Amino acid sequence: MNSPKRNQGMNGIVPQPIRYDGAGGIDTGPRDIMRDKENPNMLVPPNTDAGLVPNLKFSFSDTPMTLNHGGWSRKITARELPIATTLAGVNMSLTPGGVRELHWHQQAEWSYMLLGRARITAIDQDGRSFIADVGPGDLWYFPPGLPHSIQGLEHCEFLLVFDDGNFSDLHTLSISDWFAHTPKEVLSANFGVPISAFDNIPTEQVYIYQDNVPGPLESVNMQSPYGTIPISFKYQLLAQTPIKTPGGSVRIVDSRNFPISQKIAAALVEVEPGAMRELHWHPNNDEWQYYLAGQGRMTVVLGDGNARTFDYRAGDVGYVPFATGHYIQNTGTESLWFLEVFKSNLFEDVSLNQLMALTPQELVKGNLHVGPELIHALRKEKWPVVKYPGFSYYPR
Ligand code: MN
Ligand code: MN
Repeated sequence: MNSPKRNQGMNGIVPQPIRYDGAGGIDTGPRDIMRDKENPNMLVPPNTDAGLVPNLKFSFSDTPMTLNHGGWSRKITARELPIATTLAGVNMSLTPGGVRELHWHQQAEWSYMLLGRARITAIDQDGRSFIADVGPGDLWYFPPGLPHSIQGLEHCEFLLVFDDGNFSDLHTLSISDWFAHTPKEVLSANFGVPISAFDNIPTEQVYIYQDNVPGPLESVNMQSPYGTIPISFKYQLLAQTPIKTPGGSVRIVDSRNFPISQKIAAALVEVEPGAMRELHWHPNNDEWQYYLAGQGRMTVVLGDGNARTFDYRAGDVGYVPFATGHYIQNTGTESLWFLEVFKSNLFEDVSLNQLMALTPQELVKGNLHVGPELIHALRKEKWPVVKYPGFSYYPR
């Protein structure tokens, strides 16, 4: 006979809502076993979970694709994940030559290139031009209101993040939409060419379209008499030397090293098997997460006795309300990679370990009823990711 513990997620065994201490009971009714297997901490929550915590997880696999000739997109906004009011995310792919048309919007746009290569173009308000090719691990940032385009140089995929949870990438200001809703006499007068020049313009917003793969950067003639933009819209995040700690690595990107990125800050975090993103919180804003690879679980403690644990895997979005305590454990056998993104010009976090190390020892001892064993292990230096031999989480 299988013990309840053995029933909690081994391959080939149907997981049951039974805790290791025997609490719960079997579920023989209507159920989605694949989803239960993906959410072991929902089926059997840790007994420290309690209270009312809103949903903090949404998978891009639960969102509808917008399919176009030239690529696809899907989004997670406050409509899908109501608590996510600060940021919205769009997952987009372009074919070789596929174009996200010239457009602009009131929101800042921050992007992480997931795979493949693309070409991005923009100009600023002073007529200074920008063009760059981006590849895996590269970022771009377009300030609010500035026009830009994206074109696949090969099959590519990227994550776009906007500083408004209610944003929709389908409702932006686009060049085709403006043309379609301007009388041709006006277009003729504006550009100084006959009306017939506009015989074949699109009759509605194009959004994404298929075109030919462009030539090398050097072949593109877009020299501006006003020069190029003074602060780059591109940043190579993977080229940055990471902060390395036992258990993983962190790369932080914000307005200090990517000066144009005034409204969005981020960290790319790697958590090795058995390691965890330490207990911490952020003193500036909510955290919007995107899981890139691997699998993990996060517990968020909202205070007043409310705590809940969620399981995440590649393609999921997570969310953490401003200032609430949380940690993320790798529950798999490969490295867990994710992005922490903030509507802020700075990445900021507070480490629980560092806080306690920099507080008078007697205060910590009296508060938590702990002894020298813990007090002497506290660390004044911040380690965003931790791993201690013999004290790690491993998959059941
Ligand atoms: Mn855009
Ligand atoms: Mn965090």
